Amino acid sequence: MAKKGGGNRVERYCPEMNAEMMHRLEMDGYLRKAIEENELFLCYQPIVDVHTGAVIATEALVRWRNPKLGLVRPDEFIPLAEETGLIHEIGRWVLQTACRQTKQWQRETGNDKLAIFVNVSAVQFQHERFVDDVKQALKQSNLLPSCLRLELTEHSMLRHLSSTMRTLDELKRLGVGIAVDDFGSGYSSFHYLKQLPATILKIDRAFIERLHTNASDAAIVKAIITMGRGLGLETIAEGVEALEQLERLRDLQCSYAQGYALCPPLVAEEIAAYMTGRQMNQL
Ligand code: C2E
Ligand code: MG
Ligand code: MG
Ligand code: MG
Repeated sequence: MAKKGGGNRVERYCPEMNAEMMHRLEMDGYLRKAIEENELFLCYQPIVDVHTGAVIATEALVRWRNPKLGLVRPDEFIPLAEETGLIHEIGRWVLQTACRQTKQWQRETGNDKLAIFVNVSAVQFQHERFVDDVKQALKQSNLLPSCLRLELTEHSMLRHLSSTMRTLDELKRLGVGIAVDDFGSGYSSFHYLKQLPATILKIDRAFIERLHTNASDAAIVKAIITMGRGLGLETIAEGVEALEQLERLRDLQCSYAQGYALCPPLVAEEIAAYMTGRQMNQL
């Protein structure tokens, strides 16, 4: 055992660390088979026009149900998939499935403007094939590029800034929308925001949570919406859980919202029923 630096510096066997590593290894093994075993599925959360109540889009949210592990949340397996590189295959599957599903809803509802928001991780975005994957998903599904919006966090956009910009520009030329996810939670400066070819800001739910009870949060949300409008960006409020928050968003001229108060993430069949129900309510 190394004694240098005193007894406290000796590396000890740590059962918790070992258990954690075993768990990850086990998860990785299962995750490798998840696609072929049809264990991945998508939930979709409606994004609603705050003023008219119309569903303008949905956000695809991946889920993994494994017979041994049960339902695993994306916050748990996406970081692992990024580490092991599996994210490319998973991301490709999400893109293809979400585009195909949206085209089907467009046909069923007659709304050919219905859009789909797809989360893209930083690792996935850096892959040289990423733009080809996007093109292929659009081609296979016959979905118009303007109906696809990719969500990236500020953090992932600012990583490897120059290559990111090239990819973003290419996607923009294709006509695909770019949304900054969890806006306000990172540390991007206005200098970068001005350069990013983003078309949409998704206001982080941390600010929406106390929008109706805390003056500082309300001031920040108001400032983001005003800035978005000035820059020609659409704004979407994330994590709307209370009707009071929705009312405040209307007052502040926020365009769109999503959250449990409107509709939780649902599987495709439930979304079709939700959209039909809403259309009927609007008649
Ligand atoms: P996100 O992109 O910010 O997605 C929004 C998260 O907030 C989702 O969690 C959603 O279920 C949850 N949510 C929606 N409405 C409310 C609300 O009113 N209150 C609260 N408290 N939460 C709400 P979820 O589905 O667990 O996803 C977590 C994160 O995992 C996502 O955050 C996204 O970054 C990532 N993720 C999900 N699907 C994918 C995917 O297909 N690819 C990649 N790369 N990441 C994904
Ligand atoms: Mg998102
Ligand atoms: Mg996200
Ligand atoms: Mg978000």
